[in-house]
Order: sequence, then C-alpha cells, then structure tokens
Amino acid sequence: MKPIKLKIKTKTQNYPIIIGSNLISKFSQINKQNSLSFNKCLIVVDKNVPKKFITEIKKSLKKNEVFICFFKANETNKNFPIINKILDTLLSKNFSREDCLISIGGGITGDVSGFAASIFKRGMKFINVPTTLLSQVDSSIGGKTGINSSHGKNLIGSFYQPNLVLSDINFLKSLPKREIACGYGEILKHSLINDRKFFHFLDKNVNKILQLSSPIIEKTIYESCKIKKIVVEKDEKEKNLRKILNFGHTFGHAYEASLNYSKKLNHGEAVILGMKTALTYSFNLKLLNKRDFELIINHINSLKLTNSIDKFFTVKYLNKILFFMTKDKKNKSQKISLVLLKKIGSPLINKEFSKNKLKIFLNNYLRNKNLD
Ligand code: NAD
Ligand code: ZN
Repeated sequence: MKPIKLKIKTKTQNYPIIIGSNLISKFSQINKQNSLSFNKCLIVVDKNVPKKFITEIKKSLKKNEVFICFFKANETNKNFPIINKILDTLLSKNFSREDCLISIGGGITGDVSGFAASIFKRGMKFINVPTTLLSQVDSSIGGKTGINSSHGKNLIGSFYQPNLVLSDINFLKSLPKREIACGYGEILKHSLINDRKFFHFLDKNVNKILQLSSPIIEKTIYESCKIKKIVVEKDEKEKNLRKILNFGHTFGHAYEASLNYSKKLNHGEAVILGMKTALTYSFNLKLLNKRDFELIINHINSLKLTNSIDKFFTVKYLNKILFFMTKDKKNKSQKISLVLLKKIGSPLINKEFSKNKLKIFLNNYLRNKNLD
C-alpha cells in the first residue's frame, strides 16, 4: 500500500503527516520529497523502540552527521533534566537552527523533544516519528509540546509545529497490547466528537484495528489524524473549538490523578472510563438520546479492554475525584467545565457545572445507580 499523506496548515507552519509501512528505511528520501534538508541531526529515541529501526534510520541518513540520545520514556522523566541534556548536546555539538531534532518514540518522547526544539535558539527544525498508536493518532498532531512539573502534568510547554510527522505502522508491532488500547481510546474519542460514519467504521472493524491489520489500521490512523487536523487548524491555541478534544478527559484526568498515576490505569484506559462517565452524564441530562447512548456504551463494553469503573473506584473516591476535577487547568472558575455529547459526532462545549451538581451525579455513578 502506498503511503498516505495528510497536510496540516497552521499559522506558523505547514507540514505533512505521512502514514505507511517501511517508511523509516526511506527517511532521507522522504525528507527530500518534502523539501526538508539539514546537515546535522540529533535523534532522541525511546529506549523501548527496537534497535533495528535506529540502524535503518542511521543507514538512510548516511550523508548527515547523526547524534543519538537514548531516553527512558516515562512521566517521571518528562521533566527539565532531559530538556537540559538535549540542549547541552545541541550546544556542545554546535547545532544551528537549520539543523534538526528528530524524535522517535511515543507521546512522552515527542512532547519532550518538541519542547526542546522550540526553545533551542528560539526554534530549530523538528521531525516527529511517533511510535505508539496514541502518538500516531493524537499527540503528534497539533503542536502541543511540554513537560511535567511537581504541580501537575504538562504544565510547562509551548505550541510548536514540526516540519514533518512520519507515522510508520511497523513500530506498532512491538507495542504492548495495553498501549494499543490506549491509542484506541483517543481514536474512539475522535469519532464521537466529529464523525458518525467513522464511529460505525470503528464499530465494524474494531478487532482488525486492535490486531493492527493492514490496510484497516492505516485508514484508521488517517481518519483519526484528519479529525484532529480539522480541529487544530480551526483553533491552534485552544481558544474554543479545540476544547472538544477534551471529551472524556476531565473525568479521565481526575481518575488518573486519584490513583496517583498508577500503572494500574493508564491514560487511554482512564479516557475510556472518562468517556463512559461523560456519556452517562450527557444521557442523564437528556442531551444524548438513548439510541446513541446505547450504541456507544455497547461498543465500549464489547472491547476486551479495561472498561469498567467499579474495578478501580468506589464511592470512597468521590471527594478525591472532585478535587482533581476542580484543579483541572482548563477550568477558569470554580465551576467545572465539561465536554458532553448531543449525538455521535456532535459535542457540546463550554458547559459549566457546579461542584455540587457533579457531586450528586458522581455519587450515584460510583454507587452504580446510573444506567451504564
Ligand atoms: P509513551 O511515550 O510513554 O509510550 C508508551 C510506552 O510504550 C512507553 O513505555 C514507551 O517506552 C513504549 N514504547 C514506545 N514506542 C514503542 C514501540 N514502538 N515498541 C515498544 N514499546 C514502545 O506514551 P504515549 O501513550 O505514546 O503518550 C502519552 C504521552 O503523550 C503523555 O505524556 C501525554 O501527556 C502526551 N500527550 C500529548 C498530546 C499532545 O497534544 N502533545 C496529546 C495526548 C497525549
Ligand atoms: Zn488523551
């Protein structure tokens, strides 16, 4: 199958996302085809990415001066020391703005590298090679970069668009099953906020998608990127529309935080639980009709993934969850802003709720008194 190309246009940068298989061996050629050139490059690579890909990319970049920085990607290491390490290497090797930083890894590696690229001499060339399903369908599009702080996740960062995104599906073969599920959560979110037809496609093909079967997986990645593209092109800096991408995330983030970001519940799993909660709330408020509500809930329940809230939370967690929901950086006032769903493909943003109203709902929800 030929690679698929999607062009992203933002105020600061136009760049292509290329989706396909065996792209890494043609890395240099693809850069040329996209009028991207540089002399030196620093590759920041996730330690868990199989080494054969590094050998391939080095082979393809034989005409360039190549430096490599291995990175142990986890949320604890998504912090200033790795940024300093990258910047130090770039400075000591005399990199210029016209040279390139290449990220090979998941969302963590991409966020960290993108942030370093954005502040090195006020911005250098940057290529993102996402290697997880989540990063291929979500974090590599839209230009958000950043690191964590002791005050919370992703609180320090910048908006910085890459020059190129290369999504090679071969990377996905070594990903643990739970990481595939994590990416699927975001794919499902994209369908629910924008595209009913895509939701039906997912419903029909979910098993093939989770088995990474080609060409279904390429089409799924492409459609998911296309939805994020539409949203970020209209609202690059999250003034309004981009908030729809937070569907399921206000609840989801609070679930992750309430478990201290334990490995028991990863981000995508928390988002799936968060979407179920947001759907139930939308249905309770009579925003979402029963037919769509049941269609989506049945789809989620049919997934052989983590999808049941009572495995993780009881009503004892109520205050903790509410605390983290009010702390969410997207809330401007004491009220809690939520993205809800009117029907598949139609979200509702900027709906604010008092803490008390949500407490009543969550109290019932965690006691399993709601339809679900
Ligand atoms: P990740 O980068 O931690 O990768 C998940 C795990 O898979 C890690 O253990 C990693 O080492 C491993 N891994 C990566 N590629 C692999 C491969 N090919 N084979 C085997 N193992 C591999 O996580 P993620 O889910 O890709 O991204 C989550 C991060 O992305 C979070 O920090 C989140 O804040 C961020 N994010 C950013 C945006 C954005 O717009 N910038 C959007 C969503 C999420
Ligand atoms: Zn997410």
